[in-house]
Amino acid sequence: EFRHVFRAGRIGSLHIPHRIVMGAMHLGLETREDGGAALAAFYAERARGGAGLMITGGAAVSVAGAGGRGYGVLGDVAFRDRLRRVVTTVHDAGGLIALQLFHAGRYASPTAFGVSPVAPSAVHSRFSGSTPQALTAAQIRATVADFARAAALGRELGFDAVEIMGSEGYLVDQFLSPLTNLRDDEWGGDARRRRRFGVEVTRAAREATGADFPIVVRFTGLDLMAGGTPHADVLDFARSLVAAGADALNVGVGWHESPVPSVQAIVPPGAWISVAAAVKAAVGSTPVIASNRVNRVGHAEDILATSGLDFVSMARPFLADPELITRSRRRRPVNVCIGCNQACIDRSLVDGEVSCMVNPRAGRELTALPARSARQLRLAVIGGGPAGLQAAHALASAGHRVDLYEAADGLGGQFRLAGRVPGKADYHATIDYFTADLDRLGVRMHVGRPIGAGDVPLLRAFAGLIVASGVRPRRVEIPGADLPHVLTYPQAFAGGALRGRVAIIGGGGIAVDLAHLAARGPERPDEIERFLRTYGLAAGPAPAAAELEVTILHRGPRIGPRLGRSSRWAVLADLRRHGVRIVSGVRFRRITSDGVHIVDAAGADAVVPADTVVIAAGQTADGVVPALARQAGVWHRVVGGARDADGLDAVRAFAEGFAVTADV
Ligand code: SF4
Repeated sequence: EFRHVFRAGRIGSLHIPHRIVMGAMHLGLETREDGGAALAAFYAERARGGAGLMITGGAAVSVAGAGGRGYGVLGDVAFRDRLRRVVTTVHDAGGLIALQLFHAGRYASPTAFGVSPVAPSAVHSRFSGSTPQALTAAQIRATVADFARAAALGRELGFDAVEIMGSEGYLVDQFLSPLTNLRDDEWGGDARRRRRFGVEVTRAAREATGADFPIVVRFTGLDLMAGGTPHADVLDFARSLVAAGADALNVGVGWHESPVPSVQAIVPPGAWISVAAAVKAAVGSTPVIASNRVNRVGHAEDILATSGLDFVSMARPFLADPELITRSRRRRPVNVCIGCNQACIDRSLVDGEVSCMVNPRAGRELTALPARSARQLRLAVIGGGPAGLQAAHALASAGHRVDLYEAADGLGGQFRLAGRVPGKADYHATIDYFTADLDRLGVRMHVGRPIGAGDVPLLRAFAGLIVASGVRPRRVEIPGADLPHVLTYPQAFAGGALRGRVAIIGGGGIAVDLAHLAARGPERPDEIERFLRTYGLAAGPAPAAAELEVTILHRGPRIGPRLGRSSRWAVLADLRRHGVRIVSGVRFRRITSDGVHIVDAAGADAVVPADTVVIAAGQTADGVVPALARQAGVWHRVVGGARDADGLDAVRAFAEGFAVTADV
């Protein structure tokens, strides 16, 4: 019954109905000139879905503090009007909402507003690609005053609380860390002076809002930066923030520049709980919120039951399922966030509008209404991969009678394969969610039922067809590709067949996934320990390299070019840590029982020894089912990989599946 989660809590004077806080997410809707309609609709939908306290994406306390063009600046009247609408709409929906006060410091985009980024010291940032100007003492005091004004404004606009954003390497962190604060004045030089900015900001916000207004401070419990803030200083900072007036501390992990992943799928859920627990132990009765990589309410329940922590922040899980809370409360299946970052963080990093791979409606609550269709049609969806599952779900939700046909012996398509890859086990949860929800919606499922030439009369019995029959592995014209030790990638994912030295031909996402699986092996119960040891964050030896010796061979200059910005570096680093060799710019001559004969980038002939060779050189669209649909002469739409295998990605597959209701 999740009794630790569904227990009322308090932050200062604010009563909160349960222990899950919806963490801040920059949505890309903040500057949309619609009077705040889309932004308000986003938050209101989550409030209706049971969210207790929600925290907005960062609202910049000044122009220099904006993270990019898409950030709202509190000095802008139109942005304040949007926020006012958000507050009213959320309160009408029964929710609570806090305004996050944000200053990017050296992470600000230098080109967004034509204002130079500012920071305690002129230390170049890899993340923003710029070198900030060092703030003068007068400018620092003015920045503290900006935070104070912003906090007062939060109260004036009707927000239930404010959260001072001091984590992830933004301005407060930049003052705290010896890496970015090289000053030797009253704002830097030793740990106490480096703490001062965050403390002054908190004190000024408290003075500006009065004693009874709830203030949360989000700060970094572990920055994951070599030479960063020592642990003892972090705990001193936490205590100082409380003394300065913070009602609760929200504990983030990692900077945007950290070489250790903190929110990517390869980080095992729960990996950072000990960081927040250490803060809790340091601050006693002050509420502490744990953040990062908790994606299930059941997991939050375990954390709350065992760690002494007061709240758990979940952000992306509310993109994946706006009804996360009510569904969990009723023990209904939840659409789980799989940590892919592809439609959320990766878009946010380029100032795009955020959505969710597994829930394309996220961020489009105003326009993508779950409308019931006026006509109830009998429709068939052919293919039970991401596009087909989503199409069947959208159509059944709209009131149509849907039959789903899947040729394989289980639903999920490419997601089934991906679910075996380290960090992607939750892909199975997506399949489970859709399977359960399709059942609830009355979709008739025909699994293990291919559609073939004899089925044209069956197809004609439907008013319309959604063809989501997916892709087939691309065949390569390399002599020897038919030898017995040469596998297709689905055969390799099936497991058991890989042995010895493995050469993978291909450089896309599937080749990377497969190398990851081969090098690391499937996920194990001790993933957290294994992850922390791998990155030197826990005592004990790093996990041994895999038994399989893995080489990726590919023609192009850059492996995994379409992997998302936030995950690509982390996965490739993990491959290197596990001894995977990557050979780029090769041409293939032939495959023999010895291995793969190539011409390397320098033009020299070479043999890469291999006991198993896997072809993961892309896919081709299924042409059979679309042809049958045409032959049947029934209205149809082809979606996902069956429509375009070259540009295939799961975000597009789900989005196309979702969009079919508009066409029916
Ligand atoms: Fe989670 Fe991926 Fe959706 Fe982002 S896009 S919310 S990471 S499932």
